[in-house]
Amino acid sequence: MQPIIIAIDGYSSCGKSTLAKALAKRLGYSYMDTGAMYRAVTLFAIQHQIDVHELSDAEIDEMVDQIQITFSYNRDKEISETYLNGENVEALIRGKEVSEMVSLVSQQSAIRRRMIDLQRRAGKNKGIVLDGRDIGTVVFPDAELKLFMTAKANIRAERRYQELKAKGQELDFEEILKNIEERDFNDTNRKEHPLRKAEDAIVLDNSTMNQEEQLDWVMNLFYNKINGDLKS
Ligand code: C5P
Repeated sequence: MQPIIIAIDGYSSCGKSTLAKALAKRLGYSYMDTGAMYRAVTLFAIQHQIDVHELSDAEIDEMVDQIQITFSYNRDKEISETYLNGENVEALIRGKEVSEMVSLVSQQSAIRRRMIDLQRRAGKNKGIVLDGRDIGTVVFPDAELKLFMTAKANIRAERRYQELKAKGQELDFEEILKNIEERDFNDTNRKEHPLRKAEDAIVLDNSTMNQEEQLDWVMNLFYNKINGDLKS
């Protein structure tokens, strides 16, 4: 079976990463969390008190040259964790400060160019699931299977609230909802690579679906694709 590229785009906190990871595991594919990459760059900017909007493209290149983002699988937690220059920053990049800044940092075209380059390199041999905002439209417009995920904002906020609570982070529900809505607005309205459904993406509204149902739904699509039942 020829490996393919699976692109999962969609709104904030839709469960894209959860589904993408489960899918990658089931298929024996690799997985790339492109949002974590923009989050790691944002963390670096915060830590070094850099306002990326004041930098020229050359200065952004210089900054990105100092950033190494890697992922490592944590067997105990059964999750892939993000490392910034060798330091495990998985918890830090999911925190409030980064979440509030990331959709502004990710608007910078020089940063996007560099991240997209890394993403394309990771996908050159296919057999990968990537989730983000522009995977099916910009990074891999020829991806064989594209999903566009959505769910009602209050349901997404509730899921995020429960997820953070389980990790011991008590955040206000209204604050989470506001952050989700703000990021959706910024990501959809930015000039460069705004969040859009690719024409050939299949919409998955998971407002009333659990994780198992979503995985079954996508696996079904995958087999249809592999068997040539879907238009490519
Ligand atoms: O996926 P996640 O919510 O972690 O992404 C964080 C932010 O990174 C998004 O709100 C968006 O601004 C940015 N992003 C992006 N392009 C991607 C993935 C994420 O601009 N491919």
